[in-house]
Amino acid sequence: MADVEVRGLAKKARAGKSNLDVNAMRRRFSRHELWQLTRVGLVGLAAAFVLLVISGQLKTMAGELVAIWIVDGYLLGHMMLLRRRYKPIFLAGASVGLVLGNLMGDESLYVAFSFTAAGVVETCAAALMLPGVKSAKELLQPKVFVRFVVGPCIIASMLSGVVAVILLQGIFTTHPFPSFSNWVISDALGFLIFTPVTLVMLSGEWRTLLQPGNRIKSASLLALIGIVATVIFSKTTYDDLYWMLPPLALLAFRAELSTVLLGTLIFITVSVPLTIHGTGPLWLFPFATMQDRILALQLFTVAALSIVLPITVLQTQRNTLLSALADGQRRFRNLAERSEEVLMELSADGIFQYVSPRASVVLGYEPDMLLGRSVLELVHPDGRKELAAVLAQAWKIGVEESAQYRFRRADETHIWVRSFISAIPSGIPSGLMALAFAVRDVDAAVVAEQTRLNEERQLRDMAFIDSLTGLRNRRYLDSKVEELFSSPAHATSARPVAVLFADIDYFKNFNDEYGHQAGDECLKTVGQCIVTTLRKHDLVARYGGEEFVIVLENCEQTEAAATAELTRAAVESLGLGHRGSPLGVVTLSIGVAQGEMRRPSDAAELFELADSALYMAKRMGRNRVGRVQDAIAAPFVTAPRMA
Ligand code: GH3
Ligand code: MG
Ligand code: MG
Repeated sequence: MADVEVRGLAKKARAGKSNLDVNAMRRRFSRHELWQLTRVGLVGLAAAFVLLVISGQLKTMAGELVAIWIVDGYLLGHMMLLRRRYKPIFLAGASVGLVLGNLMGDESLYVAFSFTAAGVVETCAAALMLPGVKSAKELLQPKVFVRFVVGPCIIASMLSGVVAVILLQGIFTTHPFPSFSNWVISDALGFLIFTPVTLVMLSGEWRTLLQPGNRIKSASLLALIGIVATVIFSKTTYDDLYWMLPPLALLAFRAELSTVLLGTLIFITVSVPLTIHGTGPLWLFPFATMQDRILALQLFTVAALSIVLPITVLQTQRNTLLSALADGQRRFRNLAERSEEVLMELSADGIFQYVSPRASVVLGYEPDMLLGRSVLELVHPDGRKELAAVLAQAWKIGVEESAQYRFRRADETHIWVRSFISAIPSGIPSGLMALAFAVRDVDAAVVAEQTRLNEERQLRDMAFIDSLTGLRNRRYLDSKVEELFSSPAHATSARPVAVLFADIDYFKNFNDEYGHQAGDECLKTVGQCIVTTLRKHDLVARYGGEEFVIVLENCEQTEAAATAELTRAAVESLGLGHRGSPLGVVTLSIGVAQGEMRRPSDAAELFELADSALYMAKRMGRNRVGRVQDAIAAPFVTAPRMA
């Protein structure tokens, strides 16, 4: 914070603020810093003084050691939360508070300084062994907690015990060992209880006590501890100290860390003063001194805490894990529910193992309805084989595969879906694999694409269809013929092809006689009639005006002539009246050309020959089939005159 302020000042100076201003700010900053340091020192002084006086109340009467040394546990907790540069002043303030407190307790100056030295050595050593911990929750992480027990609680307490024994030997006790044990245990208890308590109070973790869900539970558990402790320690009739364990265990299992610490505090606050003042189960045992009795109570408290705190540590860890798990599940559920895709897990044989709730919207099935069923049974038969192959593939190579197919919805309709499939570990037992299977509704897109393709095809077809007769048009014929005669098959082996040119006789006259409309109708009827005389795969097109072209593939000369004759006869036998024709009915003249197709140029030649043959048919009197040889044999035939 202070560094930031200094940087801010430097910035302002660069921005053109006068040096005077900057100096004034600097002065203000150092005054602020000075006040902060003083405040921290005073807090250390006051807290150490007050807590020493309170700890003094826990003394075993005749000027002996206290049962639980609160001061150093608090000092350690507070030091852990302070920034490094405030720590020395805090400790200095606390030292003054300790000296003053000891002097107030009628200790000599030497004893007061010795106690203070032991406390400061202990707090410094403890703080050095626990760097970087800023909350009780962090302190109760299993590894940190072990470090806390071994470091501050055991090593630092013993260190200060050694310092105290060396400095005070012979002064305040005649038996150094019990003094040492009492000292170490009271300091260890102080750390064990008051360091986390201080952290909980100063870091704000105590607020969990006030959470609505916790309030009643915590209050009941704490009341239970208080009542049981009071009942046990206010009478001296039975040794029922062990009845303290069930409520403490209940506390460890059921309560938050703050409540557990508060419960322990209540137990100590009740048990120690009552024991010191002459009641409680420890008076049933013949202890030689009061100090021995308090040592027994300390050992009981250590034993109780060694049960309660590890359970709380594990419970805290378990709760963290559970909430992380619940958090992960909630996040997955939210994502899965809001995802556009249905997320599924399939077993090796394609059976649904998990189905996300989205299935009800996209597919109409509640997830339960799909579990245990095979995905393939819900796929349209047309796509089943393909999907089975994709599943097998995804399984084998372990990369993401995708497939588009029709899925049968709950209402028996089919929708187009796209699936993304990949192999994933299936969890327990490890080593097993499953398929991650996502289903996305692509029905609208697929249907739109199909419609577009259909329309495109229709448009293409329309470009190749003669709108009047519905037959293929000349453009189609040209492209088809080119495709037919330029294919490689024709380059290697020759194939017999016949081309028939058909032209309605005296059609100009028909229009003149009956009108253009009737002429159109006539063209349609003749067109349909021609189609009926051909094989399915034969090609017929309206070539233009009243001319039609027929292409017969794999057709020999005689067959071509026979087809032409069949067509001519069919049109004649329609008997469509034609006053403008000497023949009285609508008739066709057809020119036939047949040959072996080898090169594209052969096609043009064949068309020319067919045209010549038609010309010959006209010349030879119309309503007939003209062949190439006719064109050669009879170059000139007079057309019949109109009747
Ligand atoms: P020929 O026997 O020598 O074939 O005599 P034709 O009258 O049939 O021959 P021509 O080529 O002189 O006349 C063809 C007529 O076909 C001219 C035109 O009026 C008519 N025609 C061409 N296309 C259409 C059409 O789409 N509808 C109608 N109604 N008549 C058409
Ligand atoms: Mg014509
Ligand atoms: Mg004609």
